[in-house]
Amino acid sequence: MGRALIIGCGGVASVAIHKCCQNSDVFEEIMIASRTKSKCDQIKSKLEGGKTIIHTAKVDADNIEEMVSLINSFKPDIVMNLALPYNDLNIMEACLKTKTHYMDTANYEPIDTAKFEYKWQWAYREKFEKAGITALLGSGFDPGVTSVFSAYALKHYFDEINYIDILDANAGDHGYPFATNFNPEINIREVSAKGSYWEKGKWVETEPMEIKRVYKFPEIGEKDMYLLHHEELESLAQNIKGIKRIRFFMTFGQSYLTHLKCLENVGMTSIIPIDFEGKKIVPLQFLKAVLPDPASLGPRTKGKTNIGCIFVGKKQGKDVSYYIYNVCDHQECYREVGSQAISYTTGVPAMIGAMLVMTGVWQKPGVYNMEEFDPDPFMSALNKWGLPWKEDFNPELVD
Ligand code: NDP
Repeated sequence: MGRALIIGCGGVASVAIHKCCQNSDVFEEIMIASRTKSKCDQIKSKLEGGKTIIHTAKVDADNIEEMVSLINSFKPDIVMNLALPYNDLNIMEACLKTKTHYMDTANYEPIDTAKFEYKWQWAYREKFEKAGITALLGSGFDPGVTSVFSAYALKHYFDEINYIDILDANAGDHGYPFATNFNPEINIREVSAKGSYWEKGKWVETEPMEIKRVYKFPEIGEKDMYLLHHEELESLAQNIKGIKRIRFFMTFGQSYLTHLKCLENVGMTSIIPIDFEGKKIVPLQFLKAVLPDPASLGPRTKGKTNIGCIFVGKKQGKDVSYYIYNVCDHQECYREVGSQAISYTTGVPAMIGAMLVMTGVWQKPGVYNMEEFDPDPFMSALNKWGLPWKEDFNPELVD
């Protein structure tokens, strides 16, 4: 059917590449292009020999001209941005110049401020519309599947959704005292930022980890979870009818929190450059260099993740509550694609989002968040491609 250019070759990209190769009817040919080409070649040598033809290249995603010439030479149907949030706008620019569809899994962040906002990418709406190309934003799990869950709930079970709680639980144990499950720099920027939630039409800001709840997760059990700001809150607040409040909670173990506090207290999580032996270094980037590579956690991580959404609203005047979630087992993911569940739960939806754009099912000129498309094809693809979901029509609610 077509070809995809995959930018980045880290934890998430590795899973997406495996899944594209499993789905060779759609992904006949892929090009893996990243900063470190040896990583691309390594995965190519592991996967080649199947039906999908694999190419590799070295690219700096921030160099628009380099990106444009790579796109012009490979002529992909879509560019899958699985690099870092800092690269989003430059890759979108290259897509515009070459009139190629675009997708990513995380919204743009300026490197010097940890700000998670869609405004920079939404500013491209008209340009993408005029160019006749689709940009699909946030096709990971959260954002991504959680956004599709919201659209699905609204389509099938509610006339209006008033409350959404997104619950992200990871009961995986990798045996290290402290490690992050995806890119440490992005992860720590996210969890050390102020929390916030959307209520009655405005943001309510909290101190980092100020709001804690305990929830009994299906198949995982009771966990402490903390309110964080998360990017899908911003788009769901605009796109889901009747919304009064949206919150996002993530589980953290005590060891993770104690280490994080200590690292914060000594200045290691700062993103402000400091002088070190005549060179400028960013403490958080240095910390990333000494922490375990998330890709190396795969063989060590045992346990499951449970990510889902609880909705409360109305259908034909009656109160309705509904919980939809996916449970993913770290070791099963590792057996299938050589990665732990955090990369798996992001890489699978990345492949599905790209597939729906490439096949025209989710094609619409402009810049869109996931909940703006018909959720049904995505929901059935989740069941088919390794992330089956479960429903509960009488869930325990979060107070
Ligand atoms: P990794 O750090 O493992 O991988 C990032 C990859 O991007 C690396 O291969 C890196 O190259 C490459 N890269 C970085 N900068 C450039 C550049 N300028 N040019 C070319 N390549 C570049 O990150 P993850 O795989 O863990 O995360 C990937 C993305 O997924 C992130 O944006 C993250 O925020 C997002 N994510 C989304 C989730 C969701 O549910 N929506 C959940 C988890 C992650 P090199 O190998 O040289 O470092």
